[in-house]
Amino acid sequence: MADGKAPGEFDLIRLLRERQVVHPAVRLGIGDDAAILSPAAGRELLIAADMLMEGTHFTFPPLTPREAGRKALAVNLSDLAAMAAEPLAAFVTVALPRGRSASFALELHEGVLDAARPFGMSLAGGDTNAWDGPLVISVTVCGQSSAAGPVCRSGALPEDRILVTGSLGGSLSGHHASFTPRVREALTMQQTAPIHAMIDISDGLAADLHHILDESQVAAVLEAARIPLTPEAHRQATAEKPALVRALSDGEDFELLLTAAPDDAARLLALDLPGCPLTDIGSIHAGSGCQLRQADGSLIPLERSGWQHQL
Ligand SMILES: [Mg+2]
Repeated sequence: MADGKAPGEFDLIRLLRERQVVHPAVRLGIGDDAAILSPAAGRELLIAADMLMEGTHFTFPPLTPREAGRKALAVNLSDLAAMAAEPLAAFVTVALPRGRSASFALELHEGVLDAARPFGMSLAGGDTNAWDGPLVISVTVCGQSSAAGPVCRSGALPEDRILVTGSLGGSLSGHHASFTPRVREALTMQQTAPIHAMIDISDGLAADLHHILDESQVAAVLEAARIPLTPEAHRQATAEKPALVRALSDGEDFELLLTAAPDDAARLLALDLPGCPLTDIGSIHAGSGCQLRQADGSLIPLERSGWQHQL
């Protein structure tokens, strides 16, 4: 490709095979008609897919092709983390705009490998085509459940504490393109204590908490003063959209929101997760809906769209 020719499909496949890590559960990856996966005995396969489209989910710039590739896999890994699954393999399908350079396709795949490498997972298949539309990248990931089994959204129980990893808000200024999915943290937490319900925060804390409440058929009270805010949420705060509102509704934080029985929550909070603080932000109750306890102690309804600041 030093002469500037576009890489053929076979060149790309060869390059990907040379660069990739191979997970032992992937018996056969790129190079045959289908991949063969053998999860460990007694484990279940978990599969998630997410598609990113240029012009809808990102633009070049501000994203680079490498960042787009990285994000396309990372958002899928965040979904595996949300179920406490170990990543095994990714399948990456790309519709490349005709006329984009060979280096563009390679950078994109390099970004996918950047996201895969830390987790020792395989890039086990996919497809690359060219067309007259914008870039579309669709990733499917396969993971295996941990020894304790997958964590669903539907398991939250009254009296559970609500915990969140990291801090929230202002993600679109950069975090959304550079985050490390909380895969390891999820596995460590689940080894430490039973997690009743878990979700990754992609739509925003308010919306994603509502997903847990809907699936578990319970209610929640969130403590406004305890919600961890990013420096970016403070920096971007305005009178109309203070930092708390950003944390509740910006989305794309890719942190984990989980519930656990009070004793188990205490054990989780005592964990030392490097670079990943864990915060107790509220409680689960019988009933339906979500309320936000404000600094003055008053309770206001928290809609799934977030909290509308009262001027
Ligand atoms: Mg998700």
